[in-house]
Amino acid sequence: MCGIVGYIGDQNTSEILVNGLKRLEYRGYDSAGLALINGKLDIIKGKGKVASLEKKLKKQSIEGWLGIAHTRWATHGEPNDINSHPHLSQSGKIAVVHNGIIENYNSLKKQLASKGRTFQSETDTEVLTQLIEEIHENGNAPDFEGALQLALKQVVGTYGIAVINLDEPGRIYVARKGSPLLLGIGENEMFIASDASPIVEHTKKVVYLEDGEMAVVTKNDYQVKTIDDVDLTKEIHELALSLDAIEKAGYPHFMLKEIFEQPRSVADCLRGRIRTDSHTIQLGGLVDVMDRLVEARRIVIAACGTSWHSGLVGEYMFEELAKLPVEVEYASEFRYRDPLIGEDDVLLVISQSGETADTLAALREAKKKGALVLGICNVVGSTIARETDAGVYTHAGPEIGVASTKAFTAQVVVLAMIAIALGQRRGVLEDEYAGRLIDELNRLPDKIDKILEQSEVIKKMAKLFTYAPNFLYLGRSYNFPVALEGALKLKEISYIHAEGYPAAEMKHGPIALIDEMMPVVVIAATDHTNDKMISNIEEVKARKGRIVSVTNDENHEVKELSEFFISIPSTEDCFSPLLTVIPLQLLSYYIAVNRGCNVDQPRNLAKSVTVE
Ligand code: GLU
Repeated sequence: MCGIVGYIGDQNTSEILVNGLKRLEYRGYDSAGLALINGKLDIIKGKGKVASLEKKLKKQSIEGWLGIAHTRWATHGEPNDINSHPHLSQSGKIAVVHNGIIENYNSLKKQLASKGRTFQSETDTEVLTQLIEEIHENGNAPDFEGALQLALKQVVGTYGIAVINLDEPGRIYVARKGSPLLLGIGENEMFIASDASPIVEHTKKVVYLEDGEMAVVTKNDYQVKTIDDVDLTKEIHELALSLDAIEKAGYPHFMLKEIFEQPRSVADCLRGRIRTDSHTIQLGGLVDVMDRLVEARRIVIAACGTSWHSGLVGEYMFEELAKLPVEVEYASEFRYRDPLIGEDDVLLVISQSGETADTLAALREAKKKGALVLGICNVVGSTIARETDAGVYTHAGPEIGVASTKAFTAQVVVLAMIAIALGQRRGVLEDEYAGRLIDELNRLPDKIDKILEQSEVIKKMAKLFTYAPNFLYLGRSYNFPVALEGALKLKEISYIHAEGYPAAEMKHGPIALIDEMMPVVVIAATDHTNDKMISNIEEVKARKGRIVSVTNDENHEVKELSEFFISIPSTEDCFSPLLTVIPLQLLSYYIAVNRGCNVDQPRNLAKSVTVE
């Protein structure tokens, strides 16, 4: 969530920090600010976008040889100027930016207030800032670094922090627990950031911090240690991320670019993993655990949001193709109810960023109970990727739009590959069917392209529904999760209320909502449920609901019953979600654009949800 950038070097510090914050905007935020040291400590911050921070900087140009910057996603205290980061200590000498939550901030605040400290903001972050200063000023630690370590040991919760101190004007301190941070190593300059996107244009050499670690960063050097002061030697990683991948490439929004990238991202996800000659699938990341996976009693999938929807598609796939029982859980619920999971089970977590706090907590819980823990992530080197026993990267490339699109399709492709491989290894998938599926996987990128060619039709249709107050999405079988995902996409970026339902459930409640004002998006593209979907469409029409269908090219019956339809090429039922979701992504996108919404950074949302 939110973002951190820091810089020490000879370039224009405020420019580097502001450009870095722009690269982090995709994560979703409500306020932005920075602090610079140049003989004195200057702060500029406030509610609103990085662009308004930039404007303020133009009026009141401040310079420094070192600085830290932040985009905030408010958890404690409303988004306003005072609650924005960086936060200053009482003396005005220490500035802190923080991602995460200090859970015991209230009791710490009371203790600090009893010692005479006063607070400007409502944030938990200011409490941490004052705590560091209190320990430092009272001589409870040998030096500032020691005070920082002692403070971090007193806080409960999560943090990625960057700290500067006017009395040590050549250093940035960083520390991490539960919220990612990395160092970028340049020539005579150093960068810090909460993800690689602000760093990649400056250097490809990075060091990832782990939980419980901190670093002291100077212009030419860095020392990583534990917060117990044990020095560590860290591996330097080479970033694979390219600058092109995090720019818009001529599209008006990242989301549209990412929707249109799907033929390529699906192909990238498949690349090197399927063999059409031998009809086999090779997932390098799972080789070492395959025997245990084949023997598993059941798979539990834990995820949040869109990843949870791909998990639901996975459930249908694993049960059909690998004949393995699957449960799909919201990671947050799984984690807090003392789940029954053990050594015979597999927990599969799915997360685009690999940093989702709830998913990470579910993973740790299952690991503690002895389950084999596998992951599907997009961001290479992310925390989930590092903490799972094994896993598969989606290789979809950076996803910047907050509403997930290409990460979803890539997750479903990975799930399909695992399900097929597992079905083959378990001897429950017929050779002929497996062969057909593997051949079809290769054809999916072209089929997605065919759907994208209809974007103008979808754009026109979106105009007619731009001001609908509600939407209902219905699907069955493999397309039930797509109904949920279509509704979520619309809610996220257009703020229209939308519900997704299994089509048969409509008559158990939502049918009461249907009238001539209600667009009902019907996903009728799985052969074995077609007749039943047709009955559901009739039920909606009988109540004057307006039918928009997503259906196969040759499904004339559904087309005739629909006010509007979007045609998709036929595919195997289990791959249907990979095609049906595309028009729904475009429909949401065009409706949101018509409504003037901020598509890439919808209000209140964050890209990578690193708080619980
Ligand atoms: N908990 C802090 C706040 O509300 C940090 C939020 C964030 O991660 O941006 O200010």
